[in-house]
Formats: sequence, structure tokens, C-alpha cells
Amino acid sequence: MRVAIIGAGISGLALAYYLQKLGIPYDLFEAGERVGGNIQTIQESGYLLELGPNSLQSTPELQALIRELKLEQEVVPTAQAGNHRYILRDGSYEKLPTNPFSLLSNNFFSWKTKLRILKEKDVPPADIDYETITQFFERRFGPGVIDYVVNPYISGVYGGDPEKLLIHKAFPMLKEMETRYGSVLKGLMHHKSVHLTHENISFANGMQTLPEAIADKLISLHTGHRVEMITRNQGKYIISCSTTGDHDNEEYTMLVLALPALPAADLLHYTFPGMAAALQNIHYPPMAIVHSVYNRRDVSHDLDGFGALHPKAECPFTVGSIWSSSLFDGRCRPHEVLVTSFVGGAQYEENALTDKDKLLDCVHKELAEKYGITTDKPVFQHMHFMEHSIPQYDMYIEDAHEMAKQLEQDGLFIAANWQAGVSVPSCIRHAKELAHKINLKRPTPSIAE
Ligand SMILES: Cc1cc2nc3c(=O)[nH]c(=O)nc-3n(C[C@H](O)[C@H](O)[C@H](O)COP(=O)(O)OP(=O)(O)OC[C@H]3O[C@@H](n4cnc5c(N)ncnc54)[C@H](O)[C@@H]3O)c2cc1C
Repeated sequence: MRVAIIGAGISGLALAYYLQKLGIPYDLFEAGERVGGNIQTIQESGYLLELGPNSLQSTPELQALIRELKLEQEVVPTAQAGNHRYILRDGSYEKLPTNPFSLLSNNFFSWKTKLRILKEKDVPPADIDYETITQFFERRFGPGVIDYVVNPYISGVYGGDPEKLLIHKAFPMLKEMETRYGSVLKGLMHHKSVHLTHENISFANGMQTLPEAIADKLISLHTGHRVEMITRNQGKYIISCSTTGDHDNEEYTMLVLALPALPAADLLHYTFPGMAAALQNIHYPPMAIVHSVYNRRDVSHDLDGFGALHPKAECPFTVGSIWSSSLFDGRCRPHEVLVTSFVGGAQYEENALTDKDKLLDCVHKELAEKYGITTDKPVFQHMHFMEHSIPQYDMYIEDAHEMAKQLEQDGLFIAANWQAGVSVPSCIRHAKELAHKINLKRPTPSIAE
């Protein structure tokens, strides 16, 4: 038995790592020379810039992986200030407590909204087909939570539109709490001892540290191997790469797609046209990631937090910003601040498509207005454009999920953020579970961890 994995983003790397631990032969093909996919750190003009994830929730799976990779010394937790997050309201920033229970004790919500939130316990559960995140929160907690909490949060996490994302796809745990306990609040009380949010971490040299450390351990990683075609012969998979090599005629018992939906669709066109069509329907909105550096003395705002999110109701240009230099040392010089802003996502697609110079100027103007910046332009600015950013867990993803389940009978599996959940820890958890599932399909499964 040999497994072909296509794509060395965090999903493919983690899967290869866990398969290797179980003693299962595999080949991991990566189109580029670099591993990590969306996870990408660059150093430019003395600044450390994250072009994808800025921090990770330190879940038990991630902690275990970090220990196994002996990366503990590299880990940097977010600074204490990172506990505070801000929301733009009526043109200025208000502190939002991260703990859902303290939302009730501070002044962020009106009394009317607080009372309505508490009444959630009495709202009977309902099973509504294709219920969106907005519909779910409005039904359970009332309309007061939508504009200034649900909307900016979904923009920030998914680059998404809460009026389109489905609750059971994007937040299965909340839906399960409603079904199991009759109420989300009751479910939260029940899970009080379980960490609902984890500490956020990065690495001293940036996020790229993690994929590179996994890649260093792998014995069958082939970078510079873009898979161009997949064929099937008597139930086995044959991979054709842009680079001719030893693996051209290798037959694989199982195939794992660890790449975004659109390139996956291209590869399945001939072998599984129905799945290819379903994958093409998955929406990835465009996004621009902009880094701006200012002299500290030119910025009035303390930037004493994780960052700020912008509700759609405020008609912003950016989805919001992470205050990178407040979270981690070494991102810029000590007398400067570095802010990472996100433009685009499903609610602001046209903003991401703005001409680059204009886009950079709009980001600067918005930062200048909101943070009280007195200078005409930043000391440094950098833009990274993603035509396809984050997969949207809306009604169009359902078919691909259904078909993916059926294709497992044919030895075709998925390890990717359009299946596993978008966060890096979710991709790692899913990859570990998949490795164990594949292990069980061996004639004599290994009991090794
Ligand atoms: C801007 C942004 C910010 C984010 N912020 C966070 C965050 O703060 N925290 C967090 O937890 N998550 C965050 N995420 C989400 C997270 O980064 C991604 O969900 C995750 O990295 C996806 O990993 P993946 O391995 O599934 O896919 P990818 O990272 O897309 O990797 C796929 C790989 O497949 C390769 N490939 C494609 N086609 C082929 C082919 N034909 N042959 C061979 N190889 C191929 C690609 O080169 C790539 O390396 C963010 C995402 C984005 C876009």
C-alpha cells in the first residue's frame, strides 16, 4: 500500500508526517519549491511579514506536534495586550471582551440586548435547512448581536459573509450545543472546564517555522513537482507531474488531495467529473494583505491589543487590522509599529480588486483617521494579493462535502481547509485523524501512535 498526497500546505505536510509515524509509505508532491502553502513568512527591509496566518490557537494537537518537532524554544505567545480586541463603532474603537460571559457584564451591549441574550436558554431548538450564521444568531440571541459582533467576527475569521455561511458547516459545535443541550448558553456552561478559546502563539522567526520543521522530518517529500494529471488503472491511481521523475508510473492505492478546491477540480476533471464540478462551486473571495509601518511617535492610538475589526455597518475599506508589533517582538524596529490590514473577503470583494497604489493609499488613509496618525505616508508598506483566499462554508460547499464522503470508497481522500475547517490547528487535527483512518484500511493496521 502506498499513498499519494498532493499539496504540501499544512494539511498535506501534517498528513505525511502522521502517516510516516505509522509506517505507511507515501509520496508528497508539492508544485512549488517552498512548503507551507498559505503559511508564508518573508523578511523585507528588516521587517518580518506574515502573508497568511499571523497566529495560531494553541490547541492540544498543535502543542503535541510542537513538542514532537522540538520547537518549544521557538514558540512565542502573544503579548498580554493580545487579550484585548477592538470593534469599530460610531467611528471609534471599543474594547470587546474575548470571553462570551463577560460580554454581559461590560457596556458593549445595551440592557435590552443583554436580556435577550440571557433568554437564549428558553429559545426552543429548531432544525432549519441551510440556516445561515446570521439567521442562527438572530433566532437564538436576537438582532442586537448581529451588526457589531457576528458580522465583524465572521469577516475576520473566514473573510466571510454571515448572511451566506451556514451555521452547521462553519460552526458545527454551536449547532451541536443547540441540538444536544437545547441552548448554546447551556452548552457553554456544560463545557466550562473545556477551553473554548486557546492562547494564541507564533514563532520567533514567523509562522513558516512550523511547515519547514515538518518538512525536515519527511523522507518522501517532492517539491517542484506540480501534479498535472491523475489517471486510474484497475482501482489504482497514477500521478503525472510537470517534472518527469521516478514517480511517474508509480501506482498508488490511495490518493489524498491536500490542495485548494479549484486546482483539485482541474485534476479530477477526467477521473471524477461530478466531484470536479462540485469543487468548482466553492467560493474563495479575493483578499489583499497589507503591512504598514509607522514611527511610534506618529501614531496616537496605543495599539494595546490584538487588533481591531470593522463591522460592515461602519462602511469601512478594510476588514480590520492585526497590531502585529504589539503581539510579537522583532516584527519591526523598537521605535516603530507594524500593522497588518486585510482588504477584501466575501463582503468587500471589490475593495481587494482596487488598483494597488489606490488600495495602499486607502489603507493608509483609514489607518491615519482611526489611529490618529499624523504622517502623510507610512515608513514602509507591502501588499500581498490573493486572488483566492479562504474557502467559504456556504451552501455551495455542501455538494463537495457529500461527494468527498462517497469517494472514500474509491480510495480518494481529502485533507484540505475546504473540508477540515479553515484554521491551521483544524487542518492538523483533521490530518491526524485521516492518517489513523488510512491506517485502519491497511491489511494489518499498525498500533503505533
Ligand atoms: C490571509 C489569510 C490569513 C489566515 N489567517 C489564519 C490565522 O491567523 N490562523 C489560522 O489558524 N489560520 C489562518 N488562515 C487559514 C490557514 O492559513 C489555511 O486554511 C491553511 O493554511 C490551509 O492549508 P492547506 O494545506 O489546506 O492548503 P494550502 O495552504 O492552500 O496548501 C496547498 C498546497 O498545494 C500546492 N498545490 C496546488 N496545486 C498543486 C498541484 N497541482 N500539484 C502539487 N501541489 C499543488 C500549493 O502550492 C500549496 O502548497 C488564514 C488564511 C489566509 C488566506
